[in-house]
Amino acid sequence: MAVFKSDIVEDLYEIGEVLGSGHFGQVKKVRERATGTSWAGKFLKIRRKGGSLLGMDRTSVEREVEILQALKHPNIVMLKDVFESRSEMVLVLELISGGELFDFIAEKDNLLETEAIQFMKQILEGLRFMHSNSIAHFDLKPENIMLSEKVSPQLNVKLIDFGLAYRFHQGEEYKSTSGTPQYVAPEVISFEPLSTAADMWSIGVITYILLSGMSPFQGDTDEETLRNVVAVHYEFEDHYFKTTSSMAKDFIQKLLVKDSRERMTAEECLLHPWIKPITRKQVANRNRSSINMRNFKRFNAKRKWKMSYNMVSVCNRLVNMRLVCKHRSDTDLLQRQCESDVEDSESNPSSLLRRRLSSSS
Ligand code: AMP
Repeated sequence: MAVFKSDIVEDLYEIGEVLGSGHFGQVKKVRERATGTSWAGKFLKIRRKGGSLLGMDRTSVEREVEILQALKHPNIVMLKDVFESRSEMVLVLELISGGELFDFIAEKDNLLETEAIQFMKQILEGLRFMHSNSIAHFDLKPENIMLSEKVSPQLNVKLIDFGLAYRFHQGEEYKSTSGTPQYVAPEVISFEPLSTAADMWSIGVITYILLSGMSPFQGDTDEETLRNVVAVHYEFEDHYFKTTSSMAKDFIQKLLVKDSRERMTAEECLLHPWIKPITRKQVANRNRSSINMRNFKRFNAKRKWKMSYNMVSVCNRLVNMRLVCKHRSDTDLLQRQCESDVEDSESNPSSLLRRRLSSSS
C-alpha cells in the first residue's frame, strides 16, 4: 500500500509555475522549502463520492503511485513524495527540465540514425526494466518521452505519465481500451487480454515517426486510424524513407506485428542490429542513414498545434455540456467525454479510448 502524507504540501513546498496539464490536474514546479531543491508537483483532483463529477478515482492514483514507487530507473521519472487532502493528491516528482524529446529533435537541422538510436536505446532500457517488473506503461507516445535536461554531456531520456500503467499479477487477465489511437496496439482496440507487448507496438509507431515524420496508421478520422491499426495497414513510402537504413525498417517491421507474442520484446530490441550492430557493415549503414528532418519538423509542429487545439476544444465542450446536463445519464456522458478527447476530427468512434491530454507550457 502506498503511503500518502497528510501534511499540507504548501507548508513544505513553495508552489511555482505550471509546467504542463494532464487529465485531472496540473503539473507545477515546486521548491522544497527545507533544501531549496526544485521538483515537479503533479496536482490531481480526486473525485468525491456523490460529489463532483470531475476528478480521478483515488484507487487510480494509488495505482500510479505504487507503480512509480516500484520503478527506480535512470530512464523513468522518479517519485519522491505523495500528499493527500480530501479533494486532491499531489505527487512530488523529479523535475524534468529538458522538455519533450521530439521538441528537442525538431530544433535540429539534421540527425543521423546513430544519434536517434542513442535516444531509442534509453527508451528501451527504461521499458526493459519496467517490463521485467511486469509493469506496462500503456500510454507511450511523444508527449510522455522527455529529456532530463537540454544541455548535458549525455542527454538523459525520461519516461513519464504512469496514469494508465498496469502491474500484471501471475495468471491474471487484464483488458483495457485506454490509449491514443495513433499509438495503440491492435489488441487494445479489439479488447483482448493485454501484456507488456502492447508497449512494444507503440515503440514501433514512435520509431516510424521519428525516422520519417509520418504516422504509420494515421487516417483522416480516428475511426480510420483504428481500422488501419487493426488491419496493420502501413507501408514504408520511398518518398519519406529515402534516407532510412534497411535495418531500421526491419526493426519497425518486427514491432508492428499483429500477434503480440511474435513482437520483439524490449530485451530483443536492445539486441537488434539497428540498436546493437555487430558487423562493420551494419555500423556503416547506420552512420550513412539519417532521419527525414524536414518532414519530422512538420509532424511535430502539427502535433503541438493539435495538442493546444484539443485543450481548447475539450474545455469548450465541457462548458457546453455543463449547461445542458440535467439528468444522471447526462452527467455520465459528461464524465465519459471528460475522459476522452478528439484528436483529428469530431467523429468519436473511440470514445472508448481514454486519451491523455497533455500540453507543455
Ligand atoms: P502528465 O499528466 O503526467 O502527462 O503530465 C502533464 C504534463 O506535465 C506533461 O506532458 C509534461 O509537459 C509535464 N510534466 C509531467 N511530469 C513532469 C516532470 N516530472 N517534470 C517536468 N514536467 C512534467
